[in-house]
Amino acid sequence: MFKTILVPIDMAHVVEGKANIDIAAQHASTGAKIILLNVVEEIPTWAAAELPANLVDDSMKRAQAELKAIANTTGMSMEVVIRCGHSYKTILDVAKESQAELIIIASHRPGLQDYFLGSTAAKVVRHAPCSVLVMR
Ligand code: ADP
Repeated sequence: MFKTILVPIDMAHVVEGKANIDIAAQHASTGAKIILLNVVEEIPTWAAAELPANLVDDSMKRAQAELKAIANTTGMSMEVVIRCGHSYKTILDVAKESQAELIIIASHRPGLQDYFLGSTAAKVVRHAPCSVLVMR
């Protein structure tokens, strides 16, 4: 039904719950192209001087390896994309570039059940160019 599905993953949320990956794997079995995306936050220039020079590069490499491992556990073919930028804006950029027809996003970080939507999820729902499935 959906040809391309974008699945944004916050690595800090993965340990306790990966509901959006599980549902993406089910869609993969119907032939959909699945793109797992992690956005590594940019370091503001005023803070960069105080931090190790390759902090962002190292975070991107680690995220790439972790997301590939997650994709492998599903047994399905999935593309892994790591970007550096602002999380919700980058999620929307990649959705447009890849012409995603659906975004499957988690509602909030684990343990914040009182909130219907986290800050990134809320902005993605509001501004997405396509349908959004919010996993609780
Ligand atoms: P909270 O505000 O409770 O941390 P968020 O809205 O930031 O909740 O996160 C909800 C979901 O949004 C995450 O589980 C993930 O699907 C997506 N998301 C948030 N941050 C990122 C990120 N940096 N890269 C990719 N996806 C993200």
